[in-house]
Amino acid sequence: MKITIIAGARPNFIKIAPIIKAIEKNQTEGVTIAYRLIHTGQHYDKNLSDTFFEELNIPKPAANLEVKSGTQAEQTAAIMVAFEKEMIANPCDLVLVVGDVNSTMACAIVAKKQNIKVAHVEAGIRSGDMTMPEEINRIVTDSITDYFFTTSTSASENLLQKGVDPLNVHFVGNVMIDTLYQNLNRIVKPVFWKEFDLETKNYIILTLHRPSNVDEEQSLVQLLLGIDNMVGDKKVIFPIHPRTKAILGERELNLKNIVMVAPQGYLNFMFLIKNSFAVITDSGGISEETTVLGIPCFTMRNTTERPETQTIGTNTLVGTSIENLEKHFDAFVNPKSPSKKAAGIPEFWDGKAAERIISILLQK
Ligand code: UDP
Repeated sequence: MKITIIAGARPNFIKIAPIIKAIEKNQTEGVTIAYRLIHTGQHYDKNLSDTFFEELNIPKPAANLEVKSGTQAEQTAAIMVAFEKEMIANPCDLVLVVGDVNSTMACAIVAKKQNIKVAHVEAGIRSGDMTMPEEINRIVTDSITDYFFTTSTSASENLLQKGVDPLNVHFVGNVMIDTLYQNLNRIVKPVFWKEFDLETKNYIILTLHRPSNVDEEQSLVQLLLGIDNMVGDKKVIFPIHPRTKAILGERELNLKNIVMVAPQGYLNFMFLIKNSFAVITDSGGISEETTVLGIPCFTMRNTTERPETQTIGTNTLVGTSIENLEKHFDAFVNPKSPSKKAAGIPEFWDGKAAERIISILLQK
């Protein structure tokens, strides 16, 4: 079996790493399975791309389509044009896409139009929020996917409700958590730990990059000032996404607690998360990692496509206003109201999802 694997953006790199490991393990055991890794170039900053290849030992891609930035349509179209050429030059039996970025949807469409089977890892998750570009990518990708690999029973249920053949829906667990378990003993304290006087369980990690939180400059500034004020004497480490940085520009914010740093490599970032007091974020992936690590997570969104991080894990959806965040944060730090949730780990988030995926694909 010849599989073309697609990765385009930071969360994709984290998800494909264990899948490639599982394929290579099968190869060493004599199984006939080959893969070709294609980087679409959707994320191209060293901090968001190369660092992850190096740290997670992901092999160099066979090709980089170098699509770079653009509007939603420009980027999607550029990926489709470039990937179609790649597919014609290098045919395969199956295209495997992960997650919900533009590369996921664009490459799935190209593959399907060439009558190539599509496997979608992290299929079936839905926020119900059609203003999120990712939600559109999820729906379109799943409408043409052949083999669906899900992280939760609710994701499988979403697919079954839409009439997907149950024989093609496979609840395998979470490849992002495979990567977490494979690297927990390799995490590294960042060099700025001392410089910023960080102490274990006494600082907060903040990440924000969703258009609903960062695209309006004034509300982003108000949100940052509000968080800076809310956290008392706790430091807030804010690895700033290029999208968010571009909005803030050179603006001086006079923040007393928030420290802006570059986007972190995986090993430094996981060290920071694991040792933090709490996390404030709008990332979906981070709410999964904090769930497994038992770190309280406040998600600045109105919806989540990962409900198990709330029902089982440590995640609390707090909406997008500073007032709501404050309300939840105060309830959390106030010892009189024991709001800390007893956290559990969702089923199959056990580090073996990628192995399950490859063994299922080998039977197709
Ligand atoms: N991440 C990282 N360094 C950072 C911020 C995030 O390594 O500075 C990792 C994070 O742990 C998670 C992934 O990137 O594994 C999530 O990426 P992102 O928030 O961009 O995507 P989303 O989860 O929102 O799709």
